[in-house]
Amino acid sequence: MDLPRPFLERMKERLGSRFPAFLSSYGQPPRKGLRVNTLKLSAEEFRAISPFPLLPVLWAADGFSITEEKAGGDVYHFAGMYYLQEPSAMSVGEIAGSYPHERVLDLCAAPGGKTTHIAAKMAGRGILIANETDDARAKILSRNVERMGIANCAVCSAPPERLAERFGEYFDLILADAPCSGEGMFKKEPNAIPEWSEENVARCAVRQRGILDSAAKMLAAGGRLVYSTCTFAEEEDEWQVEDFLNRHPEFVLERQEKLYPHECAGEGHFCAVFRRTEGGERRPGPFPVRRVAAAERAFRAFSADFFTAPPEGEPTTLPDGRMYLVPRGMPSLGGTRLLRLGVELGEWDGKLFKPAHALCMAFGSDARRKLVLSRAEAERYLHGEALPADLPAGWCAVCVANFPLGLGKCVNGVVKNHLPKGLRKIV
Ligand code: SAM
Repeated sequence: MDLPRPFLERMKERLGSRFPAFLSSYGQPPRKGLRVNTLKLSAEEFRAISPFPLLPVLWAADGFSITEEKAGGDVYHFAGMYYLQEPSAMSVGEIAGSYPHERVLDLCAAPGGKTTHIAAKMAGRGILIANETDDARAKILSRNVERMGIANCAVCSAPPERLAERFGEYFDLILADAPCSGEGMFKKEPNAIPEWSEENVARCAVRQRGILDSAAKMLAAGGRLVYSTCTFAEEEDEWQVEDFLNRHPEFVLERQEKLYPHECAGEGHFCAVFRRTEGGERRPGPFPVRRVAAAERAFRAFSADFFTAPPEGEPTTLPDGRMYLVPRGMPSLGGTRLLRLGVELGEWDGKLFKPAHALCMAFGSDARRKLVLSRAEAERYLHGEALPADLPAGWCAVCVANFPLGLGKCVNGVVKNHLPKGLRKIV
């Protein structure tokens, strides 16, 4: 691997006698991992049915190292049973230690590794807002939140400074997994190598400083700010932390960790936890739910028939007929571009309610009518095929190992495929 000479010189100076071990880690293949989605099943349950070998990650309760190359194409991945995440990146969600009932903001969230980790720890309760400034990446984040069946999350897209104006001192926990020079990504994304330069490290540090300042404004007193990068540059890590503390006497540093690829079974990560010791607390107004009685009636009728335990919460109906289940306590998000608000329930066309894929991914395990497929049959469903079924006519949840993959509609003993076209397997 052809690494930039100034990068190697900096690392040599920093690591001293540990440098040769660091350098030799680049001769090994990139480490890969998965984190079990405990919103759906436990790590033990997944381990018992995993189609490929798993090796526990020491610092992440539900994380495993894997060597499988095709884990992203597995039917269990489509069912949201796990999220692919490089092992050292799992340390951040563990260190952040989110809890149910907290108000949490993931400020730089796409593609969603840490959002989905935090969500699992929140166990579907509390408020989680996942923000991503880049449009295309925000869509991927939104899809991942949907696949993992996360019900208490809103996905939005706004610059951190706009969010800071919007929220003020509101959150209990903010994660700023900042864009960085990506020195820990060189093996996974070799195109990060030619982009590396000392100037870029300095540019990243300036951007991170702005992101941290915005994050600081949005924490309630007592709240935690978790800052992380996947780089080793001190300007972006330890010095950034020092600089932040100098600018923000209302914060103390509680913890700081740096994982290096030669010292752990991962590619490396940096993480710092600050606590805000002084400040106030602000409560933005509640999300303005738009209630349309006829749409709600149609949804409730569908829900009573489809689910054994209908999901609770307040549906909001957008002017175009799309309905969402607003997480309890969700604040107003005006001024941000909203990609997802809790669970998309479906569409109401003025007469009929048509359920959404997201509804099935979040609550489909509680469906009365399920078509439970083998792994081979699930492949066929993911390719868009219709499947025979001995089910009554109407909507059903199509599952593998009892976990929903998407919706189907049974007509005359055949389940028609309602998996959105963009989510199907092509090969
Ligand atoms: N937390 C993500 C995860 O675990 O999957 C990875 C986040 S990645 C390291 C940093 C993200 O910050 C990128 O998706 C990038 O688009 C976004 N970003 C870029 N510039 C930003 C800015 N000025 N403010 C906030 N986020 C920014």
